[in-house]
Amino acid sequence: MPRLVMKFGGTSVANLERISNVARHVAREVEAGYKVAVVVSAMSGKTNELVAWCKEAAPLYEPSEYDAVVASGEQVTSGLLAITLKKMGIPARSWQGWQIPISTDDAHGSARILDIDGEALGGSIDAGEVAVIAGFQGIHLPTRRLTTLGRGGSDTSAVAVAAALKAERCDIYTDVDGVYTTDPRVVPKAKRLDRIAFEEMLEMASLGAKVLQVRSVELAMVHNVRTFVRSSLVDPEAPEMANVEKAGTLICDEEEIVATQMEQQVVTGIAFSKDEAQVSIRRVADKPGIAAAVFGPLAEAHINVDMIVQNVSADGFTDITFTVPNADFERAKAVIETAKGAIDFHDVEGSTDVTKVSVIGIGMRSHAGVAAKAFEALAARGINIRAITTSEIKISFLIDAAYTELAVRTLHSLYGLDS
Ligand code: ADP
Ligand code: ASP
Ligand code: MG
Repeated sequence: MPRLVMKFGGTSVANLERISNVARHVAREVEAGYKVAVVVSAMSGKTNELVAWCKEAAPLYEPSEYDAVVASGEQVTSGLLAITLKKMGIPARSWQGWQIPISTDDAHGSARILDIDGEALGGSIDAGEVAVIAGFQGIHLPTRRLTTLGRGGSDTSAVAVAAALKAERCDIYTDVDGVYTTDPRVVPKAKRLDRIAFEEMLEMASLGAKVLQVRSVELAMVHNVRTFVRSSLVDPEAPEMANVEKAGTLICDEEEIVATQMEQQVVTGIAFSKDEAQVSIRRVADKPGIAAAVFGPLAEAHINVDMIVQNVSADGFTDITFTVPNADFERAKAVIETAKGAIDFHDVEGSTDVTKVSVIGIGMRSHAGVAAKAFEALAARGINIRAITTSEIKISFLIDAAYTELAVRTLHSLYGLDS
């Protein structure tokens, strides 16, 4: 009998009524003959509340205790869904991360999965009992401490469980019916994609589209897990729900997409992230070793630097601009100030009111002029570009946050993505 993993996000399990709707989705797949493992998130808003409590209790909380607190949201929903399934006459049991176990490293708050023991879990579902797994959680076995996988981590739990169980596929149920050309809540004209390539989904996710956690896409790509994104907020018994190809977006190899399209799209989607801050170091003495002097201390402070812009100097002085996550803005400036002896600059300044907007598409590999079109279109709307980075399949622009929606809509129309 084929195995299936079904994951339900926070909105899908937000209250008992929604949980009972989820149970009907599970019932449909059980009736279709699948051996089912379900992965659930905490009720929407719960994890935010738990995180806020930790910060209020002590701003410099112990990360291992933070994990003990924030993992509890998923414990509640896994138990509630198991109770609901049993009430419907479907055998089920809840599994916490440590019970499986899902073993992780000890990077509390953003742990990585090392291994999943699929034996007891697989045996249980094959015997006809639906496994309801608390997403987001793991255990660091040497210290026997609970761990969590980072915000949005239940997606990663689900794909990892699907790989461990060699499931036929992994269905990620959320509050939208698939992956769109951009966030459909920001651009109502966004189109749902039937398929998106792993590489593109990786870029979309890491550049701000929170529909899937980046790590889950990496795992799906490496282990070749057939992953669909689909909606839970629909009638579970509607006829179209039985056909996953119609009901959701498949994340798959590029070849699988090329096979279904006459002509490849150049741009597949637009992503944006408001979690950015810009730091600029003014009048830096332009000499060998300067980049190392700036970025070495930032790396030591575990500050993730993303975009970097440095000009060629005419008079021996240059400006260096880079971006860091919003939360690291003050710390990054402090690190640069502390390194002033080694760097030799005039001053350091910046802004947290910036957004990174990105254009993504594997078709960009073989098309020239994609960026030039964007420059023109953004200029015509009076949107100033502060920094640009490119790779083979994406271009990112750093702009003032106030222009986010306008820029996303402009680029979405420009590349023919409007529905
Ligand atoms: P869940 O709680 O189910 O994990 P999330 O809130 O993490 O759900 O992710 C779903 C949300 O992702 C959607 O409500 C949507 O606003 C947002 N989103 C951002 N970009 C996209 C995109 N390109 N396609 C679909 N949804 C997107
Ligand atoms: N509940 C966790 C969060 O809000 C994990 C998840 O929802 O995927 O980040
Ligand atoms: Mg999510």
